[in-house]
Amino acid sequence: MTEKLLEVKNLAVSFSAQGGEVQAVRGVSFHVSKGETIAVVGESGCGKSVTAQSIMRLIPEPPGKIKGGSIHFNGRDLAALSEKEMQKIRGKEIGMIFQDPMTSLNPTLTVGDQITEGLLTHQDISKADAEKEAVDLLRLVGFADPEARLKLYPHQFSGGMRQRIVIAMALVCKPSLIIADEPTTALDVTIQAQIMELFKEIQEKTGVAIILITHDLGVVAQAADRINVMYAGEIIESGTVKEIFYDTQHPYTQGLLASVPRLDGDRSKPLIPIYGSPPDLYSPPAGCAFAQRCEYAMEVCSKYAPPVTYLSGQHQTMCWLQDERAAGMRGPKVTIK
Ligand code: SF4
Repeated sequence: MTEKLLEVKNLAVSFSAQGGEVQAVRGVSFHVSKGETIAVVGESGCGKSVTAQSIMRLIPEPPGKIKGGSIHFNGRDLAALSEKEMQKIRGKEIGMIFQDPMTSLNPTLTVGDQITEGLLTHQDISKADAEKEAVDLLRLVGFADPEARLKLYPHQFSGGMRQRIVIAMALVCKPSLIIADEPTTALDVTIQAQIMELFKEIQEKTGVAIILITHDLGVVAQAADRINVMYAGEIIESGTVKEIFYDTQHPYTQGLLASVPRLDGDRSKPLIPIYGSPPDLYSPPAGCAFAQRCEYAMEVCSKYAPPVTYLSGQHQTMCWLQDERAAGMRGPKVTIK
């Protein structure tokens, strides 16, 4: 079995607000093995970015707070580390890529200064050697003339190029894990595909593990090994890409898939939206959080939280339909050929 690099168990994160406490992440568990790419997918507000920020301990405290659970990374529980200890891990052992490259890049510094900054901070290295490494990294992320690019400023690059630079910055200290939070959302579709291809290439060349956070299931189909689907602060289905796309079990995952445009699909048929809104996480429902929007909801669904059902070694869901006590109650599946 592949060695686990990161293991998140029962993570619970809340935010204090005027109306009470928002339970943004409610008992999330998943793992990432060395050299693996996993995706965390769900709509806005489902808790995927809060989960990513909790791993990096970037949740502003207050109002946020990790209320429970553990985040084991390379043998240490990140949830229990001090800010000083986390500073040695951020950027060095875990790299982070954010949605908008312009907010990650400093417009007043050259790209070279920004890429070498991480090396000069975390390693005992001369400026000349740091620049050599920066040149190698720019070449790795696809720049043909890296020496010249080092001297340029962020505004002299296109959006896709800036995201490549941010990826180079995340790789600079050779981390074993990169967390990419909506890395392609600000980019157009062609560039999105190039960036996802780049993640695959980088992983093959460096062996880094990657967590891709996205609202778009279509984006991760080619890049991820496994997918965790989040809804209302919980992982409601997880499995290999094949299991999630071709053996979809949870009605919410089915809804997500039905709402994704497909190039090889019947374009005369309209995309099917998921009607309704997610529940209020000030007071999450006692039963299934998707019950108000689910066309297969049964009486039990609103009363009792669905248990986790294990369908295979990797595939699991949180839905009463897959519980053995609901045999014969299965809803129709989305069929994707
Ligand atoms: Fe729908 Fe019930 Fe499954 Fe929730 S537990 S997704 S309401 S069938």
